[in-house]
Amino acid sequence: MEHRAKLLWVGAVGLLAVGYLLGSRGGQEAPAETAEKPALTEESSAPTVWTCSMHPEIRRDRPGNCPKCGMKLIPLVPAGSGGGMSAMANLRQLVVSPEARALLDIRSVPVQRRYVMAQVEMVGKVDYDETRLGYITAWVSGRLDRMFVDYTGVEVKKGDHMVLIYSEELYSAQEELIQALKYAPTRSGQTATGGIDLLESSREKLRLLGLTDEQLREIELRGKPSPHVTIYAPVGGIVIEKLRQEGDRVARGDRIYTVADLSHVWVKLDAYESDLMWLRYGQEVTFSTEAYPGQVFRGRISFIDPVLNDKTRTVKVRVNVANEQGKLKPDMFVRAMVQSTVAAGGKVVDPELAGKWVGPMHPEVIKDEPGLCDVCGMPLVRAETLGYVSVDAGKASKPLVIPVSAALVTGRRAVVYVEVPDAEEPTFEGREVLLGPRAGDYYIVRRGLAEGERVVYKGNFTLDSEIQIQAKPSMMTPEGGGGGGHQHGGAVAKAAGGAPAPKPEIPGTFFAQVERLEDASEAVGQAIGLRDLDQVRAAFDAVGQALEAVDAGLLKGHPAMLWKDLAMVLANDVAEGAEVERLRDAQRVHEMLEEHLDRLRRQLPRPAEPAAA
Ligand SMILES: [Zn+2]
Ligand SMILES: [Zn+2]
Repeated sequence: MEHRAKLLWVGAVGLLAVGYLLGSRGGQEAPAETAEKPALTEESSAPTVWTCSMHPEIRRDRPGNCPKCGMKLIPLVPAGSGGGMSAMANLRQLVVSPEARALLDIRSVPVQRRYVMAQVEMVGKVDYDETRLGYITAWVSGRLDRMFVDYTGVEVKKGDHMVLIYSEELYSAQEELIQALKYAPTRSGQTATGGIDLLESSREKLRLLGLTDEQLREIELRGKPSPHVTIYAPVGGIVIEKLRQEGDRVARGDRIYTVADLSHVWVKLDAYESDLMWLRYGQEVTFSTEAYPGQVFRGRISFIDPVLNDKTRTVKVRVNVANEQGKLKPDMFVRAMVQSTVAAGGKVVDPELAGKWVGPMHPEVIKDEPGLCDVCGMPLVRAETLGYVSVDAGKASKPLVIPVSAALVTGRRAVVYVEVPDAEEPTFEGREVLLGPRAGDYYIVRRGLAEGERVVYKGNFTLDSEIQIQAKPSMMTPEGGGGGGHQHGGAVAKAAGGAPAPKPEIPGTFFAQVERLEDASEAVGQAIGLRDLDQVRAAFDAVGQALEAVDAGLLKGHPAMLWKDLAMVLANDVAEGAEVERLRDAQRVHEMLEEHLDRLRRQLPRPAEPAAA
């Protein structure tokens, strides 16, 4: 495909050169010669177009002043080149005069390979870290006489009283201790082994119930059992669950509250499907909350939900955040941002992570050497396995990009205007390209442009409307040459009967090749019907092979130009189709492919079968 495109291109330049030679353009404008243009150009009578640099919609066939602003009109296309289109082998090519180029301020930049920055904005909420939960558990059986925390969401500190339990079990164990104390000898030397055993075993029983030695001493000093015991918070945090009510009976080991440790929190963000390609496990996220205006918090992405919410087209992204000062509280609203440096092939660049070792569950653990995660003990993994690339990874890792303003986007496709290098007059060629995602001020180019080609980023709308005006007639009628005076109004010329249309002969071999292309497209439709994505992609590949098998060399003149344009859009259909990841995208691309094949049948109609008489 590439190879043939180049050949065609050489052909176009050749034609252009021949056109100039035959036109025998002198040093100055030679209006007298425009009348006797060579037959090579189909629109031989096309005049020079004069336009206003301020009002490009103004078009005149002779010099003069702009009816809107009175400025002197300028020639849009150079005098004598026959309207720009005709001398070219490309339907979307346009030659403008150097004056028009300057006055219309048409500017181009080279297509570059460079890292581009994508800024992803997300909103979400602070949440507690589900892996850092503490439980308030009844360590004696009894009745919950008092619960000091009534609601979930209350923040508690380590050591805060949580519940008061009335415990018969505890009461009787204390009574045993006090009884044992009465019979135990008070002086050494008079020890009766049985007595000591009784005292020690009743102390041990209370220890097992969870009393400290200090609490034991208090009971022994008081000499009186108490049925109540207070349970304190073992960790600080937010009470996220209240599992029992006041008055409930609890058994030993029953959970009463769940407390979430807030020294580390999660931030749960919603990321749009279209932004997912920029997001990676381990990336740094900055965010702010309304509660602390102007303060920037940081964390790292610890999880990207593989499941898409079909209604909102978003996925949940979880960020691990250290919160030692406890400023962040669950349910706080946050606005977050990720600055993603984008490399080719959907990888991202992160100088902080490249070459490092990262905790597979805890992205905040980053080390220079392999080892184990400080938090969970899992072996660290290389950042490169997480989709990162080092900054010095070489040229190939840089994506091909064009400025956003260079792309005239229609749906999923875009047209760019490429400045033809080394042309005698400023020459621009419209090209349909496949774009990847937008990253800031750039689009990533997936197909259709090469590094170093110059794309028009200013004035391309003007070029496009000019091409639309000039190219449409020749695109709409099979014979082209809309202004040539022999318009067929789209009617298909019959091979049998009537005068044969004065058009270049298209050999039957070409139509046989096109038929294989049509069959291949039908196979795509069948694969879609089977809902088999692998088969769909393979079928698109097969369309690509059928497309490459079409010999463009069989066509001459206007049909060759039409085919060149069709081959370009069909190749984009194939490239997009061969990478689809969803059935509905496959359907969309297949519909587009069928539309283009329809256009092919209209523009290059197969001659009717001759009667078998
Ligand atoms: Zn004007
Ligand atoms: Zn870990």
